[in-house]
Amino acid sequence: MKKIIIAIDGYSACGKSTTAREVARHLGYVYGDSGAMYRAVTYYLLQNKVPLDDPQALQQALEQINLSFKRDEEGNLQTWLNGENVEAAIRSMAVSERVSTVAAIPAVRRAMVKIQRKLGENKGLVMDGRDIGTVVFPEAELKVFMTAKPEIRAQRRLKELQAKGINATLEEVMANLAERDHKDTTRADSPLKKAADAIEIDNSFMTFEEQVEKIISLAKERMQE
Ligand code: C5P
Repeated sequence: MKKIIIAIDGYSACGKSTTAREVARHLGYVYGDSGAMYRAVTYYLLQNKVPLDDPQALQQALEQINLSFKRDEEGNLQTWLNGENVEAAIRSMAVSERVSTVAAIPAVRRAMVKIQRKLGENKGLVMDGRDIGTVVFPEAELKVFMTAKPEIRAQRRLKELQAKGINATLEEVMANLAERDHKDTTRADSPLKKAADAIEIDNSFMTFEEQVEKIISLAKERMQE
């Protein structure tokens, strides 16, 4: 069977990452979390107080950023930034509140897209994000656009944050998701939108296993084409 690229795009907190990770594990593919890349850049810019409106400072900062992904002892993928494991730090509300502003900056997107395309050089990749099927891999053999009702997404995200020991209220999470969705769909550079050839999956009332199975069966069809 031929190796393919699977692009999973959609709104914030639709369960794209957990689904993509499981599909990749099942198929023996590489998993790429493009959101983690934008989060890590945001974390770096915040930590180093880089002014977002200074293109030169921003460019210099982008050149200092070295991102990598490694598995921990339990096999979970961890984001590393310049030799530091930033997996927990990039999921904080402080980063969530800034990430969509940072991700709207064209220079940031250019740098991230370069890293993302490198991951797909040999195919056999499942990547989730906002512009994977439209901009990063417009030739991806399978494109999925995931959606879910806003209240359901907020409840799922709140549970995830609580499990990680991060304090937040349902209202805060709902407001953050609404704001990110707005910024992500209305930005000029690579806005979030469903690719014409993407298959839409509303997972509001689907179990995790059902979503994973659906995507795997679509992927298997594409691998045989
Ligand atoms: O996927 P996640 O919710 O972690 O992504 C965080 C943010 O990164 C998104 O809200 C969006 O602003 C940005 N992002 C993006 N393009 C991608 C992936 C994420 O602009 N491909």
